[in-house]
Amino acid sequence: MQSTAEIFLDNASTTKVADEVREAMLPYFSDFYGNPSSVHQFGKKAAVLRESTRELIADFLGCKPAEIFFTSGGTESNNTALKGFALNALGSNKNHIIASNIEHPSVLETVLFLKQKFGFDLTVIKSDKYGRISPDAVEQAITEKTFLITIMHANNELGTINDIKSISELAKSKGIIFHSDTVQSIGKLKFNFSQLALDAASLSAHKIYGPKGIGVLYLNESANIERLIHGGGQERGLRAGTESIPLIAGLKKTIELLKQKIDDDIKQYTFLNNYLKTQLNKEFPVGISYNSPLENVLQNIVNIKIDYRKFKLEPDMLLVRFDLNGIAVSGGSACHSGALKPSKVLMELGLAEKDALSSIRISFGRYNTKDDVDCFIDVLKKILQ
Ligand code: PLP
Repeated sequence: MQSTAEIFLDNASTTKVADEVREAMLPYFSDFYGNPSSVHQFGKKAAVLRESTRELIADFLGCKPAEIFFTSGGTESNNTALKGFALNALGSNKNHIIASNIEHPSVLETVLFLKQKFGFDLTVIKSDKYGRISPDAVEQAITEKTFLITIMHANNELGTINDIKSISELAKSKGIIFHSDTVQSIGKLKFNFSQLALDAASLSAHKIYGPKGIGVLYLNESANIERLIHGGGQERGLRAGTESIPLIAGLKKTIELLKQKIDDDIKQYTFLNNYLKTQLNKEFPVGISYNSPLENVLQNIVNIKIDYRKFKLEPDMLLVRFDLNGIAVSGGSACHSGALKPSKVLMELGLAEKDALSSIRISFGRYNTKDDVDCFIDVLKKILQ
């Protein structure tokens, strides 16, 4: 189906690749196409690019180059960490994993798989109504069998930021591995891995104006992990397979740009966030409320709930109507029949199905402007009139 969307307010799902990033990738398809494992000059050039990218990312995140592993993205990084730690724990006297109910499917489905297939004991902690996970609830869930805790840094649907500093320190004090899905927070929030007691974390390039199909798994140098992909020993044995050098070149430029632009990016997200809320409150003093919290939240994500009763709205048509009016936003996910399913995260917060379907996530990116917000408000007025 062809989309008519013209204004992209769905940047938490993915972002436009920066022109500079696309340009930086091109020579690595046509000129410098060597295999980094080869000993000749072609190979050496590719290996130099790969290692300089690793150093740049380590510097940006605040860790050591040897702690950076290239993967295909956030999903693979999360799977590699969680399955790798769990396989390593098999046969030991530890078998308990703690996760939260608002994790991305790449975490939640993985820990459920570990429970169902390998018999790990799993505690899923419930968030509060804004998607916050309390460090106290994590502490209470810990048993003497707990070996792994995974709590996301920022939620992809709400923008809610979790206190992973406290949770990581708690885990460390008890000798428990701590993994955090940092896919949404990297580039949207200024923080440094050196200030957190992380064992593992994930990055995805396509959320930060880089190409799809590449990401990073951060693994603390002391982490003991089982590998999932066996083969030629690339990525220090953790992930075999010839590296995608063009994607690594793209990731390098992505991080170089992020280093330059992160302050301006955050300023712009904050401006758009405030402007959107001011306009919403002015145009719709009643009937629209916020699923996202007002504090400790990423500035690029605003999740709102529209009172479908007040506006006589068909909840499952909301996203389609935005799309037909040239605005790309998101909400529930399409199921196989094409019907819209309510967001699982919003249902976990306690919203009724129709309220979840009447909710939308507006997520800003580097290329959005105030005009985009004005267009969004105009379309919203049209839909709700
Ligand atoms: N984790 C979070 C919080 C995400 O938002 C996403 C992407 O939507 C992922 C993981 C998966 O990342 P990728 O698309 O790179 O596999």
